[in-house]
Amino acid sequence: MEFEPVIGLEVHAQLKTRTKIFCSCATAFGAPPNTQVCPVCLGLPGVLPVLNRAVVECALGMALAVSCTIARESRFARKNYFYPDLPKGYQISQYELPLAENGRLEVETDAGPRVVRIRRIHMEEDAGKLVHDPRLGRSRVDFNRAGVPLIEIVSEPDLDSAAAAGAYLRALRGLVRWLGICDGNLEEGSFRCDANVSVKPRGSPVLGTRTELKNLNSFRFVERAIEREIERQRELLAEGGAVVQETRLYDPERDRTVPMRGKEEAHDYRYFPDPDLPPLTIDEAWIEAVRQRLPELPEARRRRFVARLGLSAYDAGVLTSERGLADYFEEALARFPQPKTVANWVMGPVLALLNERGVEPQAAPVAPAALAGLLALVERGTISAKTAKEVFAEMAHSGAAAEAIVAAKGLSQISGESELEAIARGVLARHPEEVASFRAGKKKLMGFFVGEVMKATRGRANPKTVNALLARLLNA
Ligand code: ADP
Ligand code: MG
Ligand code: ZN
Repeated sequence: MEFEPVIGLEVHAQLKTRTKIFCSCATAFGAPPNTQVCPVCLGLPGVLPVLNRAVVECALGMALAVSCTIARESRFARKNYFYPDLPKGYQISQYELPLAENGRLEVETDAGPRVVRIRRIHMEEDAGKLVHDPRLGRSRVDFNRAGVPLIEIVSEPDLDSAAAAGAYLRALRGLVRWLGICDGNLEEGSFRCDANVSVKPRGSPVLGTRTELKNLNSFRFVERAIEREIERQRELLAEGGAVVQETRLYDPERDRTVPMRGKEEAHDYRYFPDPDLPPLTIDEAWIEAVRQRLPELPEARRRRFVARLGLSAYDAGVLTSERGLADYFEEALARFPQPKTVANWVMGPVLALLNERGVEPQAAPVAPAALAGLLALVERGTISAKTAKEVFAEMAHSGAAAEAIVAAKGLSQISGESELEAIARGVLARHPEEVASFRAGKKKLMGFFVGEVMKATRGRANPKTVNALLARLLNA
């Protein structure tokens, strides 16, 4: 029997608000331990949480971006469990009445575009962090992260391969970054993913028993862990065994998933509505205000680049992979309105430069206006496209404008007819046999002559002019 995989992801995204979700402590990363804490986020008795409006607006923005239905009234609940990084003994989350439900995200996969349904998006607080010191044989706790806002985005089990899960996760990460609500860093834990994996007989409407993979802190591990888990379940079922519902971890050393805890060890969280927080009511006007402030979304921008600018789906996809890159492209385009040329430059030399320096497009060493200035020089015939690549490298290095570099280095094309004619005559004089063959009908040799002239001018001649000139000299 053939088994097909079924995957659903639960993603936690840390929101980039200035302060925590229920108090006014700072959320900034990297502060000395326990310096961003107060009685509220430390869970001291006698204090009350107050919901941060900015958190709701970030969550609302995300919910609208994936077309969710927004609950006019949602609730906060206490999720009870004991762990030393959880000062109150419960985490404030949303359970029965989440902020948003029934969304969708369109994802480009190798097998074409796919719609992944979003089951729910809710808000919750993060826990603190245990810092283990093996030297002292001790663990210490840092509560700076306790109370930092998170949204949890739960997908329906709509994914059918590790690659599709990876594509969905990338799209989701791209979107939170695009909205500016989360920095999307898997390694640092500001964007975390748990993967639920099961397999079922091909075509069967009934889902198999799932396992949940936790602590997947890179895209590579997410995809590898899911792949290994699918294989494990397939082999198990093929041998007549059964999958048990449990939480598993991925062990990168051995490249396999290993059990963490079983169903019977699973927590009973004893959820109940938090009596300290009133229901959250959101009216139409608030939703509309947030919707108005949303930037044009990547999907819409991608489609516009294809429909209005005539770019290929691939180019449009690359350019809209980051909002900053799309902005960079459009700023350059505003000053040099040739979409394909600008797209090639942005996806080629500009992107390579950004990767090499490890900077965001906003901080590109060659600004969009400067790039447009360079392209204008090529357009006017002042420099060749080849020379432009050199000038670009110099611009990145020195920060000077294209025109200044071309002038200082004498890079402008030789277009003066007399100078070029002298060079061309020299080339023909040095190759009498080829000239004779050309005149005898071997017209293919034109390419050779043009090449020689370009070589002699070190690429500074305009090939079109050279062609015309040689044609005249050879036919004379
Ligand atoms: P829980 O609340 O216990 O985590 P849910 O039923 O809410 O469980 O599902 C959590 C995630 O697991 C969702 O992303 C969902 O799509 C996924 N999921 C549920 N059932 C399956 C299954 N049989 N196979 C794969 N994924 C599943
Ligand atoms: Mg779960
Ligand atoms: Zn606090």
